[in-house]
Amino acid sequence: MNRRKFVELGAVALLTRPLAAQSTQAAGALSPASKTLAPAPTPSGPFLLEPLPYPLTALEPHISAQTLSFHHGKHHAGYVSTLNQRIQGTGFEKQTLEHIILASQDQPKILNMAAQVFNHSFYWNCLSPKPTAPSKKLTKDLGKHFGSVEKFKQAFEDLANGIFGSGWAWLVKDAKGTLSLVATQDAHTPLTQGLTPLLTIDVWEHAYYLDVQNRRKDYIAAVVKTLLNWDFAQQRYDAS
Ligand code: FE
Repeated sequence: MNRRKFVELGAVALLTRPLAAQSTQAAGALSPASKTLAPAPTPSGPFLLEPLPYPLTALEPHISAQTLSFHHGKHHAGYVSTLNQRIQGTGFEKQTLEHIILASQDQPKILNMAAQVFNHSFYWNCLSPKPTAPSKKLTKDLGKHFGSVEKFKQAFEDLANGIFGSGWAWLVKDAKGTLSLVATQDAHTPLTQGLTPLLTIDVWEHAYYLDVQNRRKDYIAAVVKTLLNWDFAQQRYDAS
């Protein structure tokens, strides 16, 4: 997949441009609800911490404001800050995040940070405070590849539950339009496999441990059954 293809992929591509390409993005901005919780660090660029697309309390009771505050304001912010530090003087400063991911395959210290910034920006958009459902078109395609939407959901949960340690579970679409499920370990992202992500679940401990401790399966079930943002998946599906 070339750089132009990434740029065409829609919302996430827009979220991951460096500072120089953005006009009104507030550095480190969080929703008003965050004012009573841990403040986010403010990475100084070229990449910025994107604000969450909903208030910190929006995903409760499934994902608490405390978890979102730390996950976004500390972990995600930390990846952004470290990425900014590691690309200083490399020539990556004015590149898109997607370009950096593809071009740093032999530089894991940069690749890991770039991928974690991308993965988290993507993950926030995969969660919705309001119930959403697959469109008719996506329902048909999920049925074709997984048997039904319900069978897809079970397979997605099973995939996420089966990841050992830290990683990500993904619904992806390949160049031929085939939908499939992919698990990636640690910071890895299916972008490097030429796949278009439609949905993801973060299964790193920081995504759930404050809320459900060792019951990771409860967090995964809540995400799949209640929080998945099918409208975002549809946007990605249509743009790829
Ligand atoms: Fe995370």
